[in-house]
Amino acid sequence: MGLFDAFKKKPAAKKPVRRPMMRPAGMGGMPPHPEPSADNNFIIVILDSLRYDSYMEAAPKVISKLGKVERRYSYASWTAPSHYNLLTGLLPHNTPDNVYASEYYKQDFLNYNTRLGAKDIEFAKMVPGLWFPELLRNNLGFSTHARVSLPVLNPKTGINRCFDSFQLMDSHNDMRAMLPTLEFSSDRPAFYLLNVGETHYPYAKPDEDSSMWPRISGVNGVFKKLDKCTDAEGNLIEDDTEFFDQDKLDQLRERQIDTVRYLDGVFEELYDTVPDNTWIVVTADHGELFGEKGYFGHGPIMHDKCFEVPFLEGKIR
Ligand SMILES: [Zn+2]
Repeated sequence: MGLFDAFKKKPAAKKPVRRPMMRPAGMGGMPPHPEPSADNNFIIVILDSLRYDSYMEAAPKVISKLGKVERRYSYASWTAPSHYNLLTGLLPHNTPDNVYASEYYKQDFLNYNTRLGAKDIEFAKMVPGLWFPELLRNNLGFSTHARVSLPVLNPKTGINRCFDSFQLMDSHNDMRAMLPTLEFSSDRPAFYLLNVGETHYPYAKPDEDSSMWPRISGVNGVFKKLDKCTDAEGNLIEDDTEFFDQDKLDQLRERQIDTVRYLDGVFEELYDTVPDNTWIVVTADHGELFGEKGYFGHGPIMHDKCFEVPFLEGKIR
């Protein structure tokens, strides 16, 4: 049992591609799509928990064809708020000097005209919902889709708003399984949010035997033991599990780097799948600590390595 198992059904054996139900227009508060007014499909790929320096060390050749890799910073330190933030249209920032925040936001938002092949996109059009999928779908005529790996982003959560389809994948670490579910049409552009789990703890490739995964009691058990973490008097029971030593943490970091090298092959298939008029952003929702400050993971910690993320974007052809 791992972190994710408490949330999920047992993954089924190999079976045909499962496409999510499309939410019918006109139901659930969703108006019909307007005529499209953007030229490009738009895909944001979130490599969950991927540190900037892990990406650089992996040096993935295919992913990097998109454009120059930048060191950027996530607005939040864990998955749920970071994805919420991304879906307000705010991609990781470059911590600029000598600028008003409002000017940075305004400029950053103007970049969407290039990304989407559209005109007159500005932040004011997001008011009052402040929700990018709403702008894409109800204003620019996109079909809007999410494929997520981490159960903390499941379709029952608040981020599933203004999506035509939203799917929690059967496996938390199989980006390749998302590819057959992607559909593009010449009738209207498509937006896809792809949350990729291979780079998240336990940094496992889909074909790796889960009995070989590195185990951390406090991480694997954090949810399933919530009801057993206090004694009869209500006092917190101290976890006596030993912390990973630095050698083990270094191995975990190597595992994350290795998943990026593996994913480079999956991106080759993604790049072959998408039509020419597709703008792709690749980034992470936050970083990870591998022993810095005696800490492992992300979340309740203030440290550069928890916020530094890779960022690159462009059209593949
Ligand atoms: Zn995350």
